[in-house]
Amino acid sequence: MVADNVFKAIKGKIKFREPMRRHTTFKIGGPAKYYLEPRDIRQLKLLLKAAKRYKIPVLVIGAGSNILAADQGLEAAVLRLAATVFKKISGRNNNLTVASGVTLSRLLSLCRQRGLAGLEFLAGIPGTLGGALAMNAGIPQKNIADLVEDVRVMDYNGKITTLKKKEIKFGYRSSGLAKYIILNARLRLTKADKRQVKERIENYLRLRRAAQDNRRPSAGCVFKNHQGLSAGRLIDLCGLKGKRIGGASICGRHANFILNLGAARARDVLRLMDLARAEVKKKFNITLEPEINIWQ
Ligand SMILES: Cc1cc2nc3c(=O)[nH]c(=O)nc-3n(C[C@H](O)[C@H](O)[C@H](O)COP(=O)(O)OP(=O)(O)OC[C@H]3O[C@@H](n4cnc5c(N)ncnc54)[C@H](O)[C@@H]3O)c2cc1C
Repeated sequence: MVADNVFKAIKGKIKFREPMRRHTTFKIGGPAKYYLEPRDIRQLKLLLKAAKRYKIPVLVIGAGSNILAADQGLEAAVLRLAATVFKKISGRNNNLTVASGVTLSRLLSLCRQRGLAGLEFLAGIPGTLGGALAMNAGIPQKNIADLVEDVRVMDYNGKITTLKKKEIKFGYRSSGLAKYIILNARLRLTKADKRQVKERIENYLRLRRAAQDNRRPSAGCVFKNHQGLSAGRLIDLCGLKGKRIGGASICGRHANFILNLGAARARDVLRLMDLARAEVKKKFNITLEPEINIWQ
C-alpha cells in the first residue's frame, strides 16, 4: 500500500505534509505526514481503524493553542474535529451538550446571549472545548472541570463511552482524557442575568489584556505553576524577561509566555524552556514542569 493511500477512503478533509504552523497559535511546526478532518463519527471510526492497521500514530488537535510542534514535522496523522457535526451545541435551560470542536469564544457568546453563567473565566482562552477538557483549562481559582457533568469519548478502537465526572481524573491542567478522543461534554451552568454574564466576560478579558502580551504568537503559559507558586514570577526573578534565542523570546510582560517574534523555530522555544528550567532549578531548587504539549 502506498503510504498516501492509507486514508484515501475517508470522507472529509485530507492533506499530506500539512505544516503544523498553520494549526498552532505559536505559528510553529513542520509538516504532519497526514492532516485529517473526518466528516462525521463513522468516518472518524474508519480513520482510526486505518491508522491502527498501518500503525500510524494519531494526534488530536483542537485550536492548537497549547501545542509546540517539532520543526522537522510529525510522522503521524493529526486529527481535527472541525466538521459541522463536531461543532454542535444543544440543550435547554442551564444544561448544555457541547461538541469538542466548539471554540470557547463561541460557547461564551452563546452563554452571553442566553444568560448562562459559570464559564466566564474562560474568556480569552483561545481553545476548543475538547482542548479545554483535555487540559482542564482555567485560571488559578477555577477550572472547566467544575462545570462538567459527563464527557462522551471514543477510544482508539472506535468504542464510544460516556464518562461521569467522578470517573475522570481531573487535576491541575490535566484530565487523563487525552488518551481518548473527546466527542462532547454536558456542562451544568447557572441561569443568570444576561448583562451580568456579559460584564463578567468583559472583566475577565480586561484582566487578561492587562497581564498578557497577545500581540505576538504564543501558546500561553509554557510551564505549570509549582505548588501555588507562579512559574512566571520564578522565571522573572531569574532575570529572564526579554531573553531571546533565535526567533523566540521570553515575554517582557509575563515571563511564563514565550513569544514567536516572527520566524521562531520549536528548537528556539525549547532552548528558552531549558534555560528557564535550569535557572529556576539553580536559584530556587524547583523543577518546572511544562504545561504545553510538545509534539516531536
Ligand atoms: C494567549 C493564550 C492564553 C492562554 N491562557 C490560558 C489560561 O488562562 N488557562 C489555561 O488553562 N490555558 C490557557 N491557554 C492554553 C490553551 O489555550 C488551553 O489549554 C486550551 O484549552 C487548549 O485548547 P485547544 O483546543 O487549543 O487544544 P490544543 O492545543 O489543540 O490541544 C491541547 C491538548 O488537548 C488535546 N486535545 C484537543 N482536542 C482534543 C479532543 N477532542 N480529544 C482529546 N484530546 C484533545 C490535544 O491532543 C493536546 O494534548 C492559553 C493559550 C494562549 C495562546
